[in-house]
Amino acid sequence: MRTKKNLKLLAVLFLPIALSVMLLTSCKSEAPVSGTLKSEPSDRYEIKRSAMVEEQIIARGISDKKVITTMLKVPRHIFIDKSQRDSAYEDRPLPIGMGQTISQPYIVALMTENLNLKGDEKVLEIGTGSGYQAAVLAEIVKEVYTVEIIPLLYNQAKERLAKYENVKTSNHDGYYGWEEFAPFDRIIVTAAPDHMPQPLLNQLKDGGVMVIPVGPPGWNQILYKVIKEGKDIKTIEIAGVVFVPLTRETKE
Ligand code: SAH
Repeated sequence: MRTKKNLKLLAVLFLPIALSVMLLTSCKSEAPVSGTLKSEPSDRYEIKRSAMVEEQIIARGISDKKVITTMLKVPRHIFIDKSQRDSAYEDRPLPIGMGQTISQPYIVALMTENLNLKGDEKVLEIGTGSGYQAAVLAEIVKEVYTVEIIPLLYNQAKERLAKYENVKTSNHDGYYGWEEFAPFDRIIVTAAPDHMPQPLLNQLKDGGVMVIPVGPPGWNQILYKVIKEGKDIKTIEIAGVVFVPLTRETKE
């Protein structure tokens, strides 16, 4: 009887200690390598990223498996400045410098889903910005061509996207598309022009899809899905949105 009681006491005293030691050791083995941007296969934002996909993307009706698995995988935090990194998985756009923003995660998912990607496409993106949307596309499709008008953002994104062999970047006014590599199966525009740019419609393949916000700067913009069927252009409204304007001059 006495020994049993003592044993119980020992267990009560030492079990929590043993468990904490086990827990500490397992946490330690998962801790990030300090000072590096080590992000795959696991990183310290993995839990936040899963919550982002669960609560902001799946819960709002995005069902394309390719979009979901890709957004679980791509480390969104490395596409923004270190000072903003802890906010990377929040439900909002974030500043990326030069008055520009990285789109809210849900908008990235919504636009990507509306491109109806199978995986073998050649996609043109106008508005590279941080490079995040281009990385999401690069994980899904065969070739990505992405255009950014601001040299500083172009240079940063080019570096971040260097690990993707299927991404080509360019620093020019994307209103004119990218003639050299046209036509494209899909086009995605992540800055809003006030009208549908004709050069982009011309560079879309027959049967191709373009997802584009159109409207005045800062308000009343609509996200469209444009389907090219021969000479016919079918336009479907997806949602009301707010994007930075598509500008027309190269800035320093
Ligand atoms: N897709 C981006 C979001 C970028 S915000 C991301 O994932 O982070 C829109 C970007 O479009 C800005 O970087 C802006 O500089 C760029 N942009 C605006 N007008 C443009 C134009 N005419 N050609 C190319 N890029 C343009």
